[in-house]
Amino acid sequence: MTRRGSITLATVAGAVSWTAAEYGLHRFAMHEMRGRGLASVEHLKHHADVTYFSPASKKLASAAGTTAVAFPLASLAAGRRCATAYTCGMLTAYGLYEVAHRRTHTHPPRNDYGRWARRSHLHHHFGAPMRNFGVTSPVWDRIAGTYDEPGVVTVPRRMAPSWLLDASGEVRPEYAADYRARGSRSASPEGAERDRVDAFKNVAPSV
Ligand SMILES: [Zn+2]
Ligand SMILES: [Zn+2]
Repeated sequence: MTRRGSITLATVAGAVSWTAAEYGLHRFAMHEMRGRGLASVEHLKHHADVTYFSPASKKLASAAGTTAVAFPLASLAAGRRCATAYTCGMLTAYGLYEVAHRRTHTHPPRNDYGRWARRSHLHHHFGAPMRNFGVTSPVWDRIAGTYDEPGVVTVPRRMAPSWLLDASGEVRPEYAADYRARGSRSASPEGAERDRVDAFKNVAPSV
């Protein structure tokens, strides 16, 4: 293989590795740990309050920590040049995932992929937190048998993304085939505590 070919392959392999890491970290380090460890606490806080995203500083620290372990291993296995490409591919895919995940919650879909990503991830949040761990792709869920076709997703109004509901709290007509909204828009302090308990038990929030 040419040097250029191997660099390209290493970059793609890095990006594909990220999608596996996205699945594995989300499932095992965040949900299965049920609040043990920083990654799990931060993620389950996001389930309890979908407007909460862990601060960029924590994400950068964990990306740097992962790179510090992965890069030397990849260098040993494939040489420095390929390891650099592999790590760049992985970090780029990780960055794209962060943007895609946040946009799932904050921005409406613009195409079929965006529509799938939102239905699947909101099903994970509001229907079945131990299903659909892949945010950017269903591939690893399909391989591991944790994929649900999202169907019509029931969303508690208090947790609904702003793009989903109109001013009166109803699902906007363009999303009515994919979503149903239930419950009140405002959250009480007791409700917030219950959401937190449910999130840390990997139980879908009540509607
Ligand atoms: Zn989310
Ligand atoms: Zn989750």
